[in-house]
Parts: sequence; C-alpha cells; structure tokens
Amino acid sequence: MSAGTMNAVYYHAPRQFTLEQVPIPQVADNEVLLKVLCCGICGTDGHVHEGAFIAQFPLIPGHEVVGIVSDLGKGVTGFTRGDRCVADPGVTCGHCFFCRRGKSVLCENFKGRGVNLSGGFSEYVIFESKNVYKIHNLTDEEATLVEPASCAIHGMDKLNAPVGIEALVIGAGPTGLILAQLLKLNGATRVVIAANKGIKTEVAKQLDAGHGLKKDNPYGFDVVVEATGSAKIANDAIDYVRRGGTLMIYGVYDHDALVRWSPSKIFIDEIKDEYLIFFFLWLILTTHCFPRAVAYLDSGKIRVKGMVTDVYKISDYQKALDKMNSRGALKIAVKP
Ligand SMILES: [Zn+2]
Ligand SMILES: [Zn+2]
Repeated sequence: MSAGTMNAVYYHAPRQFTLEQVPIPQVADNEVLLKVLCCGICGTDGHVHEGAFIAQFPLIPGHEVVGIVSDLGKGVTGFTRGDRCVADPGVTCGHCFFCRRGKSVLCENFKGRGVNLSGGFSEYVIFESKNVYKIHNLTDEEATLVEPASCAIHGMDKLNAPVGIEALVIGAGPTGLILAQLLKLNGATRVVIAANKGIKTEVAKQLDAGHGLKKDNPYGFDVVVEATGSAKIANDAIDYVRRGGTLMIYGVYDHDALVRWSPSKIFIDEIKDEYLIFFFLWLILTTHCFPRAVAYLDSGKIRVKGMVTDVYKISDYQKALDKMNSRGALKIAVKP
C-alpha cells in the first residue's frame, strides 16, 4: 500500500503555489493510483492559476495525466501494476437532474481532476478505474495529447458535419492540428490550416493570411473552426464561412472578450453557429470521448509525433506556465 509523501505543485490560493511534500493518496476500492510519468499543461491550467472557472483551493493542478498503475483498490479488475495509462479527469455524480437523464456531460456536480480535485502535477494521482485507459504505442509525452484529443472529438460530435465538406481551421496549436486530422479522417475533401509560422500572437499577420484565403476561396468553407483563442480572429472568422456553413468557436478566450456578428448575415447566409465555448468543451463534455481519443492516437491514425515541444520538471512549474503564456511552444509536458 502506498504510504509516505510525494512532491506536488500545491496551490494554497489563486496564483500562490509552492512545490510541497504532501501525503501520497490512498486508493479506495474502485480506484487506481497512478505514478505520474508526464502531465500536459494547457490553457485550462492558466485559468486555474488565476482561480477562474470551477477551480477550488487548496489544489494540486494537472488534468492531462499519463502514468503507471502503482496500486489498485480491492474492487478493480482489468489492470495490473505497471500498466501505462492515461485518464479522463472528469468525475460525474450519477444522481443529479442531468445524470439521471443520461446527460452526464451536463452533470450539476461535475468535478475535474486538476481543477477541483487533486491532479497530476505531482508524483502520484488517484483515478476511478473506469476513467483509466491503457496505452501501448504512444510515448509518455505524446500521450498528454489524448485529453485535448477527446475534447476535439466532442467538437466533432457537435459539429456533425456531412461528408465531402471543405474546412478551414484557423490556428495550428495541438487542438487545431488534431481537429484538422479528425476532419480529414471523417470525410472532408479539403482541410486548410491557417496560422502563423512560429509565434502566434501577432494578430495582424494572421489576418494577412486571411486576406489571401478570401481571394483563393471565394465561396468560403463549409466549416470554419476558430482555434486560436483570439476574439478578433473569432470575430472575423465568420467571413470565411460559406453560405449555409458552420462556424465552430473552439478556443480559450479572455473572460471579457466579445465578438460582434451581424444577425442579418447569420440569417441571410443561414450560418449555423456552434457556440462550443471553452468551458463546455474543456472537460465537461468529453465524457464518453476518451475511448475514441485513445484509439485514434494510440493507433497512429491521428499523428501527434513532434507536437510536444517542451518538457519541464514540476519544480519549474512557473517556467512551464510562462512558456505556455508566451505562446512560443506547441505542447508542453511536465514531469515529476
Ligand atoms: Zn487541457
Ligand atoms: Zn450529475
């Protein structure tokens, strides 16, 4: 049984964290203890850092966990010590209004590992065994992309696009690159990715790319995915949507960011907006998407090789946050 202490990134309050020695958690009957190999960091962790969202403190953050089974509860079957796994951070209650109607994605008592339950920027973390999935082919670093991929799969479910579409994905972060591959694998005839090479903060350049797009694609695209997180680009993205097409808003935006779209354009052009805002996409609606994300990535059907550009130790967690906020990395993994 696990006894003793472990190192963890420990927040006492928003923006106030230290590397601390905390007790190694003990498994209940239906839980597994993962020894963390790697945990991805994303925009959600930036929001958690600020105390936004459904974050609760004190907290060990980290929701994109890759680890090895190191202890199992009495009731756990199907796993043995040493299994390399990823885990779905979402925990639903099973008894609220929505859960009882089979819509656990809208659970009123939703909890998330790394948001309001202890997460993976630590040496060990606990999950219910039903949330844990074995991986075989992905490297530890690559496997941090499974959780973002499950969010992208949820986006695809909501999009529900017909076959043969032409799509534009704006933004070439991990999510944009995974969504572009999903679109291709699911019947798009053409997928165009628009993004700056390198640093993605210069909105003007992004828009320059956009002007060319307009000229080269006078009828626009059946589906436009905004995956940069820039409200300005989200605002302009509607201009690339073909009449009768769909705009999917899929980014991490500042809380006070606003867009202005002409309702008459939406009406006349019959544009179907998928208001897939970050909050819903991020964890909550990924329930039931994880098995497909594991299958896509572990089989190599969706390629994530090379996407992890930076690796930090949990003792350098601030550096990892700074690097992410600088937008100079594609995907960052953090190791104990
Ligand atoms: Zn994430
Ligand atoms: Zn519920």
